[in-house]
Amino acid sequence: MLYKCKKCGSKEFISQPNQYDVFESQNGKLVLKSTEFIDDELVLYCRECSEILEFDEDDIIM
Ligand SMILES: [Zn+2]
Repeated sequence: MLYKCKKCGSKEFISQPNQYDVFESQNGKLVLKSTEFIDDELVLYCRECSEILEFDEDDIIM
């Protein structure tokens, strides 16, 4: 499939941040507890206008 943003025509897409740090409140400090990865479905957004791209998982090349 030829992918481009249906709104602005851009051909570049960005994924959601899929990593986050967990901080825990401890005695008035914020202590980094762990870094977690969200192993979720891949969502892609247009880099220019943030429109969500509809795509076929089979077309993803990593
Ligand atoms: Zn766009």
